[in-house]
Amino acid sequence: MTDLISMTIAEAKAGLANKSFTSLELTDAHLAAIEAARSLNAFILETPDQARAMARAIDAKIAKGEGGPLAGIPLGIKDLFATKDVRTTACSKILGNFVPPYESTVTSQLWRDGAVMLGKLNNDEFAMGSSNETSCFGPVVNPWRREGSNTTLVPGGSSGGSASAVAALLCMGATATDTGGSIRQPAAFTATVGVKPTYGRCSRWGIVAFASSLDQAGPIARTTRDAAILMRSMAGHDPKDTTSVDRAVPDYEAAIGKSVKGMRIGIPKEYRLDGMPAEIEKLWSEGAAWLKAAGAELIDVSLPHTKYALPAYYIVAPAEASSNLARYDGVRYGLRVPGRSIGELYENTRAEGFGDEVRRRVMIGTYVLSAGYYDAYYLRAQKVRTLIKKDFEDCFAKGVSAILTPATPSAAFGVGEKGGADPVEMYLNDIFTVTVNMAGLPGIAVPAGKDAQGLPLGLQLIGRPFDEETLFSLGEVVEQAAGRFTPPRWW
Ligand code: GLN
Repeated sequence: MTDLISMTIAEAKAGLANKSFTSLELTDAHLAAIEAARSLNAFILETPDQARAMARAIDAKIAKGEGGPLAGIPLGIKDLFATKDVRTTACSKILGNFVPPYESTVTSQLWRDGAVMLGKLNNDEFAMGSSNETSCFGPVVNPWRREGSNTTLVPGGSSGGSASAVAALLCMGATATDTGGSIRQPAAFTATVGVKPTYGRCSRWGIVAFASSLDQAGPIARTTRDAAILMRSMAGHDPKDTTSVDRAVPDYEAAIGKSVKGMRIGIPKEYRLDGMPAEIEKLWSEGAAWLKAAGAELIDVSLPHTKYALPAYYIVAPAEASSNLARYDGVRYGLRVPGRSIGELYENTRAEGFGDEVRRRVMIGTYVLSAGYYDAYYLRAQKVRTLIKKDFEDCFAKGVSAILTPATPSAAFGVGEKGGADPVEMYLNDIFTVTVNMAGLPGIAVPAGKDAQGLPLGLQLIGRPFDEETLFSLGEVVEQAAGRFTPPRWW
């Protein structure tokens, strides 16, 4: 029988349409793969009964010639998305066994279009992290290993479960969220495609909030085309999220294979870091050469405020997080640790419920927002943010269609290898991705090559607001030139 788990979404759609297999068969094959891959710790909750029920229902629809654009496609859902009657924890102890009585808008659109839910995926606690090591369910294992080594590597974060599951063929695609790099960095670490849409393109309603002015949902998939297919279902205006934008959702898949001839691609000099591994530098020039060979024109551009992006992000994001996380007080949701007074109940619950990284962010955030420090930190960071946004606007005003950069400054690293003594070491993972969130722009990470140890590396393309289509066209050129990468199975 056809290998049901290594197909792309596009191939599976064709197979379902011509009745080569059913959604139930496709779903069962994935449930079996998940069971055999528990050592990766990508899924923190498997929902096989629900998956089979959804698959049977969609099979009946397909038989009648109904079924939407994702009819019968099994997906994994990051645990940051509220799923009705299915435990949703953001991988934090503080949410305990919280079961939402509602469904996030993004996931409800996936089900509307016929997708099947396999279960909930691991992530960094409240999406704070770059390695998936802050999850209360423990780290996720990257299916990729260095050649000739058994060292356990991280899949990146915060959407580590999504990236690992998609790379290891446990689901055909996954939802993810990106506040500073959480879709693109794990995609780069696992040779998957990750898209962070323009701020406002997808509804944030029903997604556990980290930093509301930066958070955006997007897909992780195995090909650019599959990411485009998923994006169409995930995007759209939602009256329940006032920051979502009322603009028609294009057929993103139509952008795949479109000519990129004559497009001007910016190469920003500020992304050439001192001490950057030669392999990353090489990958970047190779990517530029592929785009040039496809007819694009390369131009040197400058984004002068890039160096302030990471420090400013680590003021804005914790500030918003400290405010968003104030709601977890032991009264309304999840964990409650009693105390002699209401104040003590709050303190005990939050001390026990939040992990170290989350507590650090809440403290930093509270500090930078406090009277006397607000102007020096928060207000200043907001001004820097405006300058970062302006850098990109100036660049696009010169006719640049998209900007090409490396996705990450290194390949995947080992569990426990980074950030132990100095959290900044971990934060530096997002050096190439945070600018995009600060400016509210769309970005895509596409697998582009491997390092000397055989680990995948990705390239990032940054686009104009609401021009995800150009990113899909360019991403496809990179994918066609680089080829696809699948980890050898060892688990
Ligand atoms: N790694 C970054 C952080 O820890 C970004 C995380 C994200 O995009 N959710 O804040």
